[in-house]
Amino acid sequence: MNQASEFESVIDYRKKIAANTDWNSWKFQLQNRIKSSDLEKYFLLSPDEKKAIQDSIRLQIGATPYYALLANPVDVNCPIRRTIIPGLGETIISPEESPDPLHEERLSPVKGLTRMYNDRVLLFSNQECSVYCRHCMRGRKVSFNEERIDKDELDAAFHYLKEHPEIVDVVISGGDPLNLSDARIDYILENLEKIPSIKICRIGTRNLVTLPMRITDDLCKIIESHNNDNLSIFCNTHFNHEKECTQESKAAILKLIKSGVSLGNQCVILKGINDTGEKMLSLHKKLLEMRVRAYYMYDPEIIPGSRGFRTPLAKGYEIIEYMRGKISGMGIPQFVNDLPGGGGKITLTPKWYYGFHRESRQHLFKSALRGTFHLSPEPIDSTYDSVYEQVDPALWDEVKKDAMSVHNG
Ligand code: SF4
Repeated sequence: MNQASEFESVIDYRKKIAANTDWNSWKFQLQNRIKSSDLEKYFLLSPDEKKAIQDSIRLQIGATPYYALLANPVDVNCPIRRTIIPGLGETIISPEESPDPLHEERLSPVKGLTRMYNDRVLLFSNQECSVYCRHCMRGRKVSFNEERIDKDELDAAFHYLKEHPEIVDVVISGGDPLNLSDARIDYILENLEKIPSIKICRIGTRNLVTLPMRITDDLCKIIESHNNDNLSIFCNTHFNHEKECTQESKAAILKLIKSGVSLGNQCVILKGINDTGEKMLSLHKKLLEMRVRAYYMYDPEIIPGSRGFRTPLAKGYEIIEYMRGKISGMGIPQFVNDLPGGGGKITLTPKWYYGFHRESRQHLFKSALRGTFHLSPEPIDSTYDSVYEQVDPALWDEVKKDAMSVHNG
């Protein structure tokens, strides 16, 4: 087949599957989930992609037809396509990379639970996702059947939670918990609700992006029935690019919100996909329009084969600096680094604070909006002066006059 007829056959196939009467059924989407051998039906694959598909071992290939149709059939740089199809970078493993950079396995007291913090745990409910995202930091776990959690193991995790009343907050993740059956989701939420010390449950799901039809009326009823005085249910999703923000996603989000769930978004900075201030701003504007607040923006993890996605740390600062002043605070994510070695998350902010001037007892700040320097006095009765980093004297001399004039209007 020549390229023109290959292209025609891809377009025909896309039209045919989208016309299926069951297209809007989540079960149809999962039954027709794209495997590596199906990619040629949806995409004109480049030689590099073909090689990467053949050589990638870290994570299986999988995508819903819905999500694949959001991707460009020809353009290898399409942000959604890059999430679905491995790139050559994925086949190169570097010594500094680790399959479990956050030490989630070491910090696991029982199978299916990771306890990084005293009051919170991560519950791995399953290993399946609708799409196996090429940048996934849990590539060691998701998509592999031996990581499946059975009911006895889930019960053992619930038992651990009962025995540790200091734990108040459970993040359900995986895999994607909303790939489980309604009955299993009901079972998990019911058990969490029954543990008096558990007050908060956060469901981590990418199905709002990759399988929005999963948010059915029945599922919403289940979630709503457990979202009550005993348990507060939140949902964190994972949109990375404006192209993912569709009408279907918005409809699913509105349904979830009606079941009383608050929604936040956790994105990852990905090289060539969303690593500019403009792209992140567009994404977060769309998210707010869809009623999703910004939550985290992750610095990419050092996982095997991640060189195609990793960005310099400075990118995160640039992005936040760019966004500040152009969107409300609800749309600006916290830039976080989940520290390699299990150190937990830290938030990183651009340099807007320039230190304390002891003699005048003024703090020196730089406006994110205007780039001007501004002063703010320490309270007269404060005893914290020695705590603050001192402002650089040369900088103080250079900017104090302007800063004071701004201060005095
Ligand atoms: S949906 Fe989440 S857990 Fe699943 S592959 Fe994508 S990033 Fe990983």
